[in-house]
Amino acid sequence: MRATILSMPDPAEFALNTEHTTTRKWFGQTAGGEDVYLYKLENMQGVEVEISNYGATIVSLRVPDRTGRVDDVILGYDNLSGYLSEKNQYLGATVGRYANRIAGGRFALNGKTYQVPNNDGPNALHGGKKGFDKRLWSVEQSAPIAAREIILRYFSEDGEEGFPGNLEVRVSFRLTDQNELRIEYLATTDKDTVLNLTNHAYFNLAGEGSGDILQHQLTLLASSFTPVDESLIPTGELRDVANTPFDFRHGTAVGIHIDDGEQLQRAGGYDHNLVLDHGGGKLALAARVTEPSSGRVLEVLTTEPGVQFYSGNFLDGSTTGKSGKSYDFRSGFSLETQHFPDSPNQPAFPSTVLKPDQRFQSMTVYRFSTK
Ligand code: BGC
Repeated sequence: MRATILSMPDPAEFALNTEHTTTRKWFGQTAGGEDVYLYKLENMQGVEVEISNYGATIVSLRVPDRTGRVDDVILGYDNLSGYLSEKNQYLGATVGRYANRIAGGRFALNGKTYQVPNNDGPNALHGGKKGFDKRLWSVEQSAPIAAREIILRYFSEDGEEGFPGNLEVRVSFRLTDQNELRIEYLATTDKDTVLNLTNHAYFNLAGEGSGDILQHQLTLLASSFTPVDESLIPTGELRDVANTPFDFRHGTAVGIHIDDGEQLQRAGGYDHNLVLDHGGGKLALAARVTEPSSGRVLEVLTTEPGVQFYSGNFLDGSTTGKSGKSYDFRSGFSLETQHFPDSPNQPAFPSTVLKPDQRFQSMTVYRFSTK
């Protein structure tokens, strides 16, 4: 059952319970006059995360560095209008119905061809013109607040953005005392459809607005990647990362090879799907990122078979973030845990088809520590 918050906007933050674990404040109104809220989860270690029901978006994530200093490590805006703006490049949002690209916005399912709006040159990106990132999600108030969890739901109608099937999606965000943000996705459909869900947080572990991310040390547990054509659609090949700029198996600074060779020039940097060695299906480590100056470490665990490593190449300084600083070229990176791009047109890739008798379930964990 879907629940909706009916209470009136209240600019003042107020506690939902007395254990200072979850608070809610009014964040603004959509063009249609719907109220949008920010929910804050806090743990016992001083970690705080703010989630908005607009786009099921992670708005901020404050974590300590090696000296205990807390900074916000997620790019985002300090007001709703930033998120509503045309310039918002999916900052922190939940992305669907199909995260990443579908070639020509077209795919066939059970002999029928479906067309999704092309919003990225010749291709569909992140669910079309109005994907899940631009929808208002309902919030389940009965979430176990003591567990610092918020549950958001979205009902995507049959035919929305051209996708078949009524789809019920549920995303939960849970903050643990082990400094983990655990994101769980569940979905069901009443007709065969395609589904690929991810979160599009951009991280800068030195603090959002603090410059580029080229010094971050990245380890990816991936021995191959999916090379792309000129419009960033996978060619179908799974290429070994050995002796390529995509070999992050032993920890490498992001900036060292970021402009080397045809694949990186096509995308203006990293914007590629890495094939995770664990193969998906069970929760396992996918990536580790260390930021040398702050000592912050982010580990990403996922049940998904792939991760899009995106080095923020389309950030161009045209928007200003929470810190009042502009988000320049490569000032944040994303690790979008997912199925591979264009899977609906790539029979050799793990399937993204969801059928009515199945329940889609996926989990990604962002775990923070220091070094
Ligand atoms: C895509 C980029 C795109 C970005 C957001 C990433 O997932 O791969 O090409 O620019 O999302 O706009």
